[in-house]
Amino acid sequence: MQVPAFKDHYQVLVVGGGAAGLTVAAQLLNREDPPEVAIIEPSDKHYYQPIWTLVGGGVVPREESERDEADYIPPGAVWIQDAVTAFDPEAGTVSTRDGRTVGYDVLVVAPGIQIDWNKLPGLAENLGKNGVCSNYSYEHVEYTWKTMQRLKPGGRALFTQPATPIKCGGAPQKIMYLTADHLRRRGILNEVDVQFFTPGGVVFGVPEFARTLEKVIERYGITFNLKHELIEIRGDAREAVFRVTDAEGGTEEKVLSFDMLHVTPPQSAPDFIKQSKLANEAGWVDVDKYTLQHTRYPNVFALGDAAGTPNAKTGAAVRKQAPVVVHNLLAYLREQAIPDPKTYNGYASCPLVTGYGKLVLAEFDYDNRPDPSFPFDTTQERYSMYALKRYALPQMYWHGMLRGRA
Ligand SMILES: Cc1cc2nc3c(=O)[nH]c(=O)nc-3n(C[C@H](O)[C@H](O)[C@H](O)COP(=O)(O)OP(=O)(O)OC[C@H]3O[C@@H](n4cnc5c(N)ncnc54)[C@H](O)[C@@H]3O)c2cc1C
Repeated sequence: MQVPAFKDHYQVLVVGGGAAGLTVAAQLLNREDPPEVAIIEPSDKHYYQPIWTLVGGGVVPREESERDEADYIPPGAVWIQDAVTAFDPEAGTVSTRDGRTVGYDVLVVAPGIQIDWNKLPGLAENLGKNGVCSNYSYEHVEYTWKTMQRLKPGGRALFTQPATPIKCGGAPQKIMYLTADHLRRRGILNEVDVQFFTPGGVVFGVPEFARTLEKVIERYGITFNLKHELIEIRGDAREAVFRVTDAEGGTEEKVLSFDMLHVTPPQSAPDFIKQSKLANEAGWVDVDKYTLQHTRYPNVFALGDAAGTPNAKTGAAVRKQAPVVVHNLLAYLREQAIPDPKTYNGYASCPLVTGYGKLVLAEFDYDNRPDPSFPFDTTQERYSMYALKRYALPQMYWHGMLRGRA
């Protein structure tokens, strides 16, 4: 095989060929006079992660979420199949795993979020067995469906959310509603103990949608435990250990046995971002939350899950961030300034699946104000919104967003 000859400098260098990196690259290359674009991305597969909720729920085969990365690298872009390990923003270069140093005029940082499987004792070694499952892993997502089907009368199903930021804040609950609906269809919902655990203090951050979810929780007879953090999994004993915080800030441990434990793992900024000069105090890329331009290095932009913006980390957010990055980046490339910046309002969308054929489309901005795209009451459960998630959004992703057209 012939090894492609890469240059050591590009006008626009994109780190990460996931939802965000590919969308920005495609939008840049669709322009009449496109800049030169290279993408550094190690993986030869690309995943449409939002559908993993429905894979875990047994609706969609997991293969539907996987495509070859090569088919989505926009025509005209150079793909460097490698991983970035360090940044030198003063020199305007990045270093890679395979020993390359690549320079840029403008850098777009979009390597996603890091899943810290090893930060929760007992998780890594039990995932995919002993009833421990997670929709956050392509490798294990089908085990969620298997475990759900094995639930029997007298059983217990637990669902958890970590104390860290996560991608898709609704995903920990969506799979619980599918499980409850699955049990209802089998006629055993009343005989299985279904419980949710979050270290947080509310059901959902936007009150308009929280009210609907509270009714869903009541309908299914779910016990919703606030101020509970999963701190250990004892796989062989099938026990989950929680730290419970009381109103005065005191803590105690609680141990519960389970037949199914769906874990949303701890997550953080990728280590190579945390350790770089690009990071803010929490480790994310330190960009202005409106212009998505770096606060200290004006030729650096970031979007997607790795960006230090206080929105809900979703693919839907990426869709609104990408045109902002493209506009501002091109202005910077032309004039070394952004006289008329485009801004991002924090829009995110969380399609909250509440059962088979039911969904609440939560769309909101930085201020947790509803920001609906449809002219009807989206705080209600609807089949039309479920159909949007199941059928329309994947098509829009593969054929619209990743092609720079939506
Ligand atoms: C279970 C689940 C359900 C979800 N549900 C929804 C939903 O319903 N709606 C919604 O909008 N969003 C949902 N999301 C979230 C959505 O998938 C992400 O927010 C989105 O993919 C973020 O895009 P990104 O480009 O920042 O990260 P990613 O799409 O994860 O891409 C990051 C890319 O960077 C690459 N990379 C990593 N390290 C390096 C490196 N060192 N150098 C170069 N490249 C690197 C990775 O290989 C990857 O290709 C869900 C996610 C999960 C897991």
